[in-house]
Amino acid sequence: MKVNIMHGAGGEVMGELLRILTKVQHNNAGGIGLEALDDGAVIPFKGENLVFTTDSHIVRPIFFPGGDIGRISVCGTINDLAMMGGKPIALSCGMIIEEGFETDDLARIVASMDEALGEAGANLVTGDTKVMERGALDGIAINTAGIGVAKTIVRDNGLVPGDVIIVSGTLGDHGLAIMAHREGFDLGEQIKSDVSPLWGMVEKVLDAGTVHAMKDPTRGGFASAINEMATKSGVCVRVQEEKIPIRKNVRSAAGMLGIDPLEVANEGKVVMGVPASSASAILDALHSHKYGKDAAIIGTVTKGAHVIMETSIGGERFIETPMGDPVPRVC
Ligand code: MG
Repeated sequence: MKVNIMHGAGGEVMGELLRILTKVQHNNAGGIGLEALDDGAVIPFKGENLVFTTDSHIVRPIFFPGGDIGRISVCGTINDLAMMGGKPIALSCGMIIEEGFETDDLARIVASMDEALGEAGANLVTGDTKVMERGALDGIAINTAGIGVAKTIVRDNGLVPGDVIIVSGTLGDHGLAIMAHREGFDLGEQIKSDVSPLWGMVEKVLDAGTVHAMKDPTRGGFASAINEMATKSGVCVRVQEEKIPIRKNVRSAAGMLGIDPLEVANEGKVVMGVPASSASAILDALHSHKYGKDAAIIGTVTKGAHVIMETSIGGERFIETPMGDPVPRVC
């Protein structure tokens, strides 16, 4: 087998690659390790829960409506820490740059990283830079890793029957912003990426109530995230189509491109399962934060398996794990 572009698209196909990449026997440092394939690892250390994660970024274009590769490379790592309940503390950054890359663009990228770090209360404390010869790489690739500390560890496998499913805002914004921009669509109001550091919002949520499971719907979108959560938890999730928040312009671009907005990446959203008793307090906490204004309860957890969508016209259909994100190089 040779690696193809779908192997990096966050869906079923990526599983083939993960079966090779996760054949590491030394995979757990005492808490939650690689075997869990969660958003990050947890390492108990001197009475604290250290959270550790890493993420590489190759998004094209480098500068897109609503963000750029710098902002996304900080937010990607901060959000994976946050999904485990981790307050982000420190990040590393490894950059691989192609010969000929404009240093002005590099300066813009770094300024953008700094802004996202400031917003999340985290610091970039170590890094590495390599330059490859022209043609060996398309511009720039950025890897970040981060450590955080969690008071309460949250997993992606903790859904239980009776839980309520909440999304923190509109779905599909990032993937469709990238795609519409590439295609040169003019839909009146421009679609902007939702790329945002989510720790501040997640912290409010964790203070407001109990969260049983949490995941950021990045590559493969909501469809991929909710299926992973349901399968790992051994439950069925039922969602109501009409309750899923999707922007009008995202819906029209998705329709024109033949893309399901539930299958494309979000970079500033959370899917969570919370006990019914915590739902209204958590929804209030989300609504009180600038990144959670459009948060909504969209479904419930029951016994069984699969993710089922009750459609607006009264039918039912499965939401399946996509083969891969339909937008290549989305993050
Ligand atoms: Mg994640």
